[in-house]
Amino acid sequence: MSAAPRETLPEEDQMILDAINKWLDRDVRPHVLRLDHADEYPEDMVEQMKELGLFGATIPVEYGGLGLSATTYARIVETISAVWMSLSGIFNSHLIMAACVARQGTEAQKAFYLPQFATGELRGGLALTEPDAGTDLQAIRTRAVKDGNGYVINGTKTWISNGIHGQCFALLVKTDPEAQPRHKGMSMFIARKDEGFRVSKKMEKLGYKGIDSAELIFEDYKISADDLLGGEEGRGMQAALGGLELGRINIAARGCGLASAALMDSVKYAQVRKTFGKPIAEHQAIQLKLGEMATRLQAARLLTYDAARAYDSGQRCDMEAGMAKYFASEAAVENSLEAMRIHGGYGYSKEYHIERYYRDAPLMCIGEGTNEIQRMIIAKQLIERNPA
Ligand SMILES: Cc1cc2nc3c(=O)[nH]c(=O)nc-3n(C[C@H](O)[C@H](O)[C@H](O)COP(=O)(O)OP(=O)(O)OC[C@H]3O[C@@H](n4cnc5c(N)ncnc54)[C@H](O)[C@@H]3O)c2cc1C
Repeated sequence: MSAAPRETLPEEDQMILDAINKWLDRDVRPHVLRLDHADEYPEDMVEQMKELGLFGATIPVEYGGLGLSATTYARIVETISAVWMSLSGIFNSHLIMAACVARQGTEAQKAFYLPQFATGELRGGLALTEPDAGTDLQAIRTRAVKDGNGYVINGTKTWISNGIHGQCFALLVKTDPEAQPRHKGMSMFIARKDEGFRVSKKMEKLGYKGIDSAELIFEDYKISADDLLGGEEGRGMQAALGGLELGRINIAARGCGLASAALMDSVKYAQVRKTFGKPIAEHQAIQLKLGEMATRLQAARLLTYDAARAYDSGQRCDMEAGMAKYFASEAAVENSLEAMRIHGGYGYSKEYHIERYYRDAPLMCIGEGTNEIQRMIIAKQLIERNPA
């Protein structure tokens, strides 16, 4: 359901979206409340997501993926997030890892990893954040030291999505801690779970339930030089940042999904809930809220699809992706709060979805670069594109 007309997708992409919508109605929607409240990993849905090809959504066709554009991908993410945002995290972090390999990997790495990522046989995510370094990634301490034909890695990563159920991670490390500028001493490895690589704990969270977020420990973890992304040291930060543009468009799309679910639930509820002898939708105070929520959603969507189009055309789009991520995530937070007000006490009840939107939305303001950082990126780009 949509608040305003949407642009049309190519026919084949629309068929994929239709299949996803059917799957959401049949196999996801009826189970969301139970799984979310139990914080249970949706094993069956992951298997169905494999069949739908979602783990290969943006992986090029020649490597077995669907090769979808960022625009179609954003529509898929928005659609899924309107039903259960956590599901989009299961394939999105995985696809950012795949994007790192597709953009920066050697031919051998692409040929080996991408087909396994595309089927979902080998799944995982992005391991950048550490207990003492999130925004300031150049301050990470995980260290890879050359050892014969490979490297030995020691360190801790935290908040890693898919950390427990995933088997493979794009792992950001320091190969030269003394390097200046610091990013020149950073590299990325494609790290599969093996001896020396373990999960130390599951992170307990406010929302974003069902998907596992974990702390990962690397203790004398040995990795082959063949798994150094791009076969060259010093390109880790570039790989991490390259993946974040698509990641930010994805977060924006998740924000649109949540903002739209909060709005559409409210539109329906306002027509059936009566006070003072009439549906609350007839009270002007409620109409003002619905009007603001719908406008905010539409603006968030326009920014998101503008960023996705820029990404698809190969343009630099850090400013566009930053604007979309910032605005759409704030729209999700605001719409979920307004939905709670419209639903009154029922908005606070676990029998409805509203309290879940309210718990899930703030993550969009933090992940893939906080909204403070997004505004700084926007300002920097604005100045760079408009010299005095
Ligand atoms: C549920 C969840 C899932 C996640 N999944 C992953 C994952 O899969 N992989 C991964 O690597 N990470 C993941 N993260 C980590 C996430 O990316 C970081 O939490 C985020 O980047 C912020 O880092 P931080 O928490 O260390 O905050 P900090 O960097 O400590 O920031 C704290 C505050 O200071 C502000 N701040 C920092 N620097 C500046 C500055 N220069 N100017 C102005 N303000 C500043 C920030 O905006 C923020 O408000 C996840 C986090 C969560 C909560």
